[in-house]
Amino acid sequence: MQRRDFLSLSAITGATALLNSASRATAADTASADVSWKLPVPEKPAQLNLCLQWGAIPGGAINQKLDFLEANGFAAVELPTGKWLFDNHSAFKKALEGRKLTVATACGPSDFSHAAKAKRDAEVAKFLPQLEVLGDLKSVGLILCPARRTVALGFSELREDFINNTGKRLAEHAAKHGTSIVLEPLTRGETPFLNLVADGANIARAIGPGATVMGDFWHMSKEETSCLGAFISGGTLLSHVHIASLKDRKIPAMEPKYDKYVDGFRGLKIIGYRGAVSLEGGFPKGADKTKLILTMVKYLRDQWEQA
Ligand code: MG
Repeated sequence: MQRRDFLSLSAITGATALLNSASRATAADTASADVSWKLPVPEKPAQLNLCLQWGAIPGGAINQKLDFLEANGFAAVELPTGKWLFDNHSAFKKALEGRKLTVATACGPSDFSHAAKAKRDAEVAKFLPQLEVLGDLKSVGLILCPARRTVALGFSELREDFINNTGKRLAEHAAKHGTSIVLEPLTRGETPFLNLVADGANIARAIGPGATVMGDFWHMSKEETSCLGAFISGGTLLSHVHIASLKDRKIPAMEPKYDKYVDGFRGLKIIGYRGAVSLEGGFPKGADKTKLILTMVKYLRDQWEQA
């Protein structure tokens, strides 16, 4: 392998401490080994593709919202799942024609941990036609959570069933239609089943084609020991990112003391991430949404530059 094919982790600002501690540990184990920590250089450099969820975009009509995204430097849009997707499929597809915007994902509630097989099958059946719509819109994928707070199945049984049955069937259908399922790890308060990006990536890898993973800065800030490390663990399976203020899950940039994304962005740069970074956060009551969104765009671009 040519040296130019690699990127030394030590060259990445801020990763020096990781490099040093890892090198020390390894040196103790393999005294004479020529140890160096290198990661493959991504084929293309990472890109910050900002994205808004449908409900967060100012405006009413579909074209108004898409105009706002284009005028303010957004690259992608995240849609609701369910009825909205079916009702607006054709009109949205038409409104998207000739625009540079892409459809990142669709996001809505899901749960595959019911004790009754019939309920799990119904959940699969609910999402199959939604995957067809998303495939038609050339979307990255459908965000799914395998389980929520109450998990009726045993963890081993649920993991096995999701990998070989419910998740597998959805992923295969997604791949057939040119899209994917996107597994979202949540905080342990929201589900005890999937909390870490690395675990989601492991499940997605076990499922195979059509399965990917995402990271949500809000959940990650509560569960991950390192956002940089978590995104690296996601690697090529990482297809989507959610972002919010790390203080109160509102729009980023209102609380700069808490809203620190440089470490995570550094991880995204290391893996050459070119998917969407999508706001999933609230707005203060009565706020000027447009003003806050524009402030967030500037703030996130600055943090990306620092990474
Ligand atoms: Mg999320």
